Amino acid sequence: MDTMKWEENVRRVVPYVAGEQPNRPKMIKLNTNECPYPPAPGVRKLAENLNCDALRLYPDSNTTPLVNALAEYYHVKPEQVFVGVGSDDVISMAFMTFFNSEKPILFPDVTYSFYDVWAELYRIPYKTCALKEDWHIDPVDYRQPNGGVIFPNPNAPTGLFEELDVVEEILEANRDVVVIVDEAYIDFGGVSVLPLLEKYDNLLVVQTFSKSRAMAGLRIGFCIGSEKMIRYLNDVKYSFNSYTMNYPAQVLGVEAVRDDAYFKETTGKIIKTRERVKKELTELGFTFPDSRANFIFAKHKTIPGDQIFRALRERDIYVRHWNKPRISEYLRITIGTDEEMDELIGFLREYIPTGNA
Ligand code: PMP
Repeated sequence: MDTMKWEENVRRVVPYVAGEQPNRPKMIKLNTNECPYPPAPGVRKLAENLNCDALRLYPDSNTTPLVNALAEYYHVKPEQVFVGVGSDDVISMAFMTFFNSEKPILFPDVTYSFYDVWAELYRIPYKTCALKEDWHIDPVDYRQPNGGVIFPNPNAPTGLFEELDVVEEILEANRDVVVIVDEAYIDFGGVSVLPLLEKYDNLLVVQTFSKSRAMAGLRIGFCIGSEKMIRYLNDVKYSFNSYTMNYPAQVLGVEAVRDDAYFKETTGKIIKTRERVKKELTELGFTFPDSRANFIFAKHKTIPGDQIFRALRERDIYVRHWNKPRISEYLRITIGTDEEMDELIGFLREYIPTGNA
């Protein structure tokens, strides 16, 4: 087709590709790191009794009750909390707000594949730093001149957690730029860098309700940083869309934060399942970085990743596979319920020829 004149001015981007969301009756969905358990019982109760009349009005643009609930839970001031439509929205706003330098922002070569998409969208120069052979971040890489730093901890899709001294080494070397630590998977056995906020006013910690709080469908994410950073972030948000968080998400989100016992119970169950699946995958001939997330990034010693991926799919078991440098032999397997993982392991036991395990 001919290119039209107006197309010269189009902001062209290659969009991020999310994991597919098939909806088949008996499928086992282990491809997008969702929580296999329902949201907290109080959330269900509230959802069933949601005040529909309130939908007539615009929601609270400050998301005040949710901000207050998070501030109380994480022992920070409400002025240090910013809430968005999933952590994707929060990170996207943070890119727009804080990454505005001629120098490249830095992030790992193998990481959440939305970072380069946002950088391209906002025309932010970026440079990736290769993870070490063992998939760990090398903090030395983050000593070069840059316009900001972002990395997930635990990293995705490796699941590897960096100890706080590694994160602090990066923070120490980058006091003049904003450092974003994306803690989407922190609740599955990692240790949050939140306490470092007292020392570093350029640190922004991002978390989400999508994984550990079983609310991917509602889209709630948040970040915590210095009051000054949150003010800048709000200025950009209010210049973009005042009412990002809808009313149901705001009220149901508060309820999810309140039920800490349920949160600890479900994350604890996922961790327990993950640890036993690690043993079973090892017995089947898989190797993987030692995940502290709600997924395992595994490679088989003889069978190619895409082959196992396709075989699983035929059985309606969905995992994630990328045809990308360094990771094409790997499958990212979300931790489901024990029953779902039994099905996966059962299939693999049949599929992998004896002697190859
Ligand atoms: N960060 C990382 C590392 C992720 O894997 C994801 C999930 N795709 C997100 C952020 C975004 O999650 P959400 O927008 O659902 O909060």
